[in-house]
This record gives sequence, C-alpha cells and structure tokens, in this order.
Amino acid sequence: MEGEYLPGGLSLPISILEIALFFASIILLFEASARWHFWFGSSLLLFVVLLLIGRFWPVPKFILPTTPLSTRTDFQEHPTKPRFVWSQKYRVRFRLHISPVKKYGLMYDHAIKEGLLTKGDFVEPVTLHDDDLRLVHGRGYLWRLYLLGSTPLGLLNGENPISRGILKRLKVACGGTYLACKIALEHGLGMNLCGGFHHAFPCREAGFCHLNDMAVAIRMLQRERAIDRAMVLDCDVHQGNGTAAIFKKDDSVFTFSIHQEDLYPHPKAVSDYDISLYSDLKVDDARYLAELKVLPELIEKHRPDLIIYLAGADPFAEDRLGGFLLTKDGLLRRDAYVLRLCHEVKVPTAIVLGGGYARNTEDTVAIHLNTIRAVVELIEGVKTSQLL
Ligand SMILES: [Zn+2]
Repeated sequence: MEGEYLPGGLSLPISILEIALFFASIILLFEASARWHFWFGSSLLLFVVLLLIGRFWPVPKFILPTTPLSTRTDFQEHPTKPRFVWSQKYRVRFRLHISPVKKYGLMYDHAIKEGLLTKGDFVEPVTLHDDDLRLVHGRGYLWRLYLLGSTPLGLLNGENPISRGILKRLKVACGGTYLACKIALEHGLGMNLCGGFHHAFPCREAGFCHLNDMAVAIRMLQRERAIDRAMVLDCDVHQGNGTAAIFKKDDSVFTFSIHQEDLYPHPKAVSDYDISLYSDLKVDDARYLAELKVLPELIEKHRPDLIIYLAGADPFAEDRLGGFLLTKDGLLRRDAYVLRLCHEVKVPTAIVLGGGYARNTEDTVAIHLNTIRAVVELIEGVKTSQLL
C-alpha cells in the first residue's frame, strides 16, 4: 500500500497535518484575543509536541538470540494444500482514499465464488500485541498512533489516516502475515490475503503504511528461534523503503526490491539489492521477468530460512500510480516463477499482497487472485508430479 499525494512523490519526515496544527497553534497563541484562544492554542501545541516526540522516540536495537533454533521444520517436499490467512476484519470500506481497501473483501468473495478456495482453506489471524510490534516500532510511535487515532484529526493525517478501528485492523493484518510465515515454515507455503506494508518505518508511517507487518513477523520468528535468516522479495512497483531502512544494518535479513525509480518514494532507501527501472524503459512482461533472473543467485548467496514474497499488483499497465506495462498474464508468470523458484531451492515462502491501484478495482482483485492461483497450481503441480 502506498501513496503519491505529495508533489513529486516526496516522502516527508513529518506529516502535513502536524505542520498545519503547529502553525494553527502558533497563530492562536500570538493572536490570542480571547482567553480560550490561548488555552486552545497551548493544548494544540502540546498535542503536536506529543506527536513529534512519538516520531523521534528511540527504538531499541534488536539482538538476535544466540540460543539454537528451537523448532526448525524441514522443508516439505510434499506440501499439503496451503492455508490462506484472512479475517472478516480485513473487510473494510474507506471510500475517501485512493487505496482500494475493498479489495480484501472482494478477493475472499471471488476466491470462494469461483471455487478457487473453500472456506476450510482459510485460517483466522490473531491480533498482535504491542510487545510484538515494539520489536520493530518505537514505543512512542505506537503511543502516537493511539493518540492520533483517538481524535477525529487522525482521519486527516494525510495519506495515512488513522483511527482506533483502523489501528485494530492493522494489528490483525500484522498477525496475518506472522501466521502466514508460521504456516510457510510448516507447510512450505502460506499466504496472507492482506499485508505488505513496506513503507512503514520504525517511527514513521508513510505511503498508506503504519505498521511494517513483514518486519514484525521476521523479528517475532527470530525472537522465538524459528528462523535465523530471512529474505524479503519485494515486487511492488514502489520501493520497499521502510523494510530496507529497518534491516539496513542487519545481515540476517536480505532485502530485495524491484521497482520504478521515477516514482514514490523520494528519496529511495538502500536495499541489499535494488533493481530500479525508469518508466522510460517501457518495462513490459519480458523486461521485468528478465530482471528477476538474478533471484536464484541472490537466494543461493543469502541462504534464508524463510522468504516473504510481496506480490504487488501495481506493476500492472493499467495502474493509476505505477508506470510499468505488465499485463495480468505477465504478473501471473512473475508469481509462478518466484514461487517455483522458492520451492526448488526449498525455502519456506510466505506471500503478502502489497499495493494495487488499477483504474478498475476488479483488475487489481483479478491480479491478486492470480497470485492465489499460482500458489494452488504450484501445490497441485507438485502433487501431480509425485503421482507420475
Ligand atoms: Zn505499491
């Protein structure tokens, strides 16, 4: 999920709302013609200061435990049918936003209606606790989200509106990615029909992302010694700048991002491996898939215990935010290639959705459904080949 509301796709360290509230409080204080002006201005200024403290609250460094891996599960050569993570709480309608959040509900409905999955294929995620989120996000930042979300002002927080309800759903979505990873470690593949909030920084929300679900899941699994090393394959059209920043100085997590260079976010972060392509290059199916041929070497080099694949739908040619020219078929081939590769190198893989802003939301839903199709076909293909 991401956005491009600021001129030139700029990613600011503080939000327009905070700037606006700050100037409003200063005007009230200096132009105080009535007593209530002073009190209201002071309260507003205090509110802004508290919000800013949250942004700059230090985040404790994560230390990888040195105890041996506890329950390392061998890779499943014969994976069972994968379990998909979805919750009724994903079903939201927020009409005043470019992000088509209704896709989370539509995906589930279509998957059932088309017979792609049955209700029995789904599992319900749990809500993560703040202790879990604090493995990545600052304590003060979480307070900031609660504070902002408790007032109507939270809904005016630029491209990243927040309310108590939204925060509650995001914590479930993070739980979904964690659960998809756990399923992947057990069955080879797991998929969360949500997640991929790759622009969220430890103390800063950005590009429609408040909590970095992938980073939290990786840290939780490292904390419980289920994995040592992880890899994030980010195939969203926007760079996964939040994820790259979180794991910048961490050799245990390799971040890969293939994205459009002349697009939000600006400036870009530095991933362990970036493929930055300008839209002038007219990046079509063939060009994009050719760029991905570097993946086998990268996976071999890093040797992760877990891969999180962010299967963004926004490299699609009809996307309103992106400038790539991929077709639905090309994106399906991308998914099939990545998943097949992860299976061949025997690395458990969890899939999350990421962005998708096609002019017609049904196209975005169709692309995400194709990702599910690629997962199911891989499993069926493996089963079939065992029978031959
Ligand atoms: Zn995106």
